[in-house]
Amino acid sequence: MLRDGKIDLTIKKLYIQTFGCQMNVQDSEKMAALLLQSGYEKTDDPAMADLIVVNTCSIREKAAQKICSQLGRFRVLKVHNPHLKISVGGCLAQQWGEHFFKRVPHLDLVFGTHQIHRLPEMLAALEQSGSRQVETDFCDRVPSLDIIAQPTVGAVSTFVTIMQGCDNFCAYCVVPGLRGPEQSRPLPEILREVKTLAGQGIREITLLGQNVNSYGQTSGGSPDFTDLIRAIDEVDGIERIRFTTSHPKDLSPKLIASFGKVASLCEHIHLPVQSGSDRVLELMNRGYTAEDYREKVTALRSTCPAISITSDMIVGFPGEGNEDFQATLALMEDVRFDNLFSFQYSQREGTTAVGMDHQVCGNVKRERLQILQALQAKHTLEKNFACVGGSEAVLVEGMSKNKPNEMTGRTRGNRIVNFPGNPELIGTTVFVKITEAFLHSLRGEMEERGRAYVH
Ligand code: SAM
Ligand code: SF4
Repeated sequence: MLRDGKIDLTIKKLYIQTFGCQMNVQDSEKMAALLLQSGYEKTDDPAMADLIVVNTCSIREKAAQKICSQLGRFRVLKVHNPHLKISVGGCLAQQWGEHFFKRVPHLDLVFGTHQIHRLPEMLAALEQSGSRQVETDFCDRVPSLDIIAQPTVGAVSTFVTIMQGCDNFCAYCVVPGLRGPEQSRPLPEILREVKTLAGQGIREITLLGQNVNSYGQTSGGSPDFTDLIRAIDEVDGIERIRFTTSHPKDLSPKLIASFGKVASLCEHIHLPVQSGSDRVLELMNRGYTAEDYREKVTALRSTCPAISITSDMIVGFPGEGNEDFQATLALMEDVRFDNLFSFQYSQREGTTAVGMDHQVCGNVKRERLQILQALQAKHTLEKNFACVGGSEAVLVEGMSKNKPNEMTGRTRGNRIVNFPGNPELIGTTVFVKITEAFLHSLRGEMEERGRAYVH
């Protein structure tokens, strides 16, 4: 790399770009941790990099298109720096394997979802042999589950992977095929990581997995997910526990009963429903009906009235007629989600839905998505306005990006709150009186009564 106009051969620069979900963000942190140990240093500028790693997503067609155009833009960097190596990991790398070299000829290395741990070794082989490397085998136990990602310096909140893979085979989803069978990480290892993080100043942990509430099921069922939450609740310094994502069919009465009882378990659940139509839910292979879902929501709210509930929804799944779509809107009216991530169904190779009859045309999908998102915006605003006048415990995460002298943090229900304050508050939890509500955030004034949490 160039340093002060001179070539510095001692330190290699690493640029990582991540596409996709939080699992991918966490995997990228693990890659960075491994490569920093191998002598690399991070850069935010791809033009300065000796190694570019693109961690890919394949959940929807759009993600794959974006990744290919980004890789295309990186090609020109190789002209200026012939030593630059470009590698791809993650779900699209797993799916395309060797084929990636045909789509993107200037790639040097392709590694699959179970091969993160071999990245330094593969790079060394690439340097030595000069020939492209590809590795997409699955392992019985994913070694990268044990790689510890380093939280960003000064971070208050971070993610901890508790499981990998998925056994659910929802008809639209590539994840089980690309991340392999579900595997849970042993509880003592998770606890060790959480304790280290608490020692580094982390106050909030989000437990990560494709279906966290089936944690432990593949290793005998005990300890289960609720046992894990209770064990983390005991860790000194951890003030808040969140998790994502949970599957409605595996949401146990034991977990429901923990909301409002386990002190650090935040009053928020992301519980993807995907559709409000029983017919579509069955075609999707989700394993519950709309009524089952409503009952879970009722149980959650009767145990913990303050709980905020967010979800994922897909419109235009094959065979989704207008009646099915109306059932989805009806479910949204009944549940009134605090927030919703919504997607047009995307046909993905290797899933069972790809070959289903009655694919819904693009215009209909677009129109349904617009209707659904307008309804959700109304509900989100209503929920946010209902917070005005109340007081919220806010864990302060940092300075607001948009306004100087404003701090930003989250409520236990996962709403973003901005308020005037100073950086000394970062990492503490304060009470904020909510004065204004918007679609994506709240604003307020810090109250005099001091810190909301002292461990
Ligand atoms: N494991 C999680 C679950 O079961 O809810 C989520 C996994 S996925 C990364 C996140 C969301 O992407 C899903 O909940 C679903 O709404 C959406 N999704 C997955 N496959 C899709 C597809 N083929 N087309 C559109 N949306 C899709
Ligand atoms: Fe995909 Fe369904 Fe597994 Fe979630 S539960 S990762 S949507 S197969």
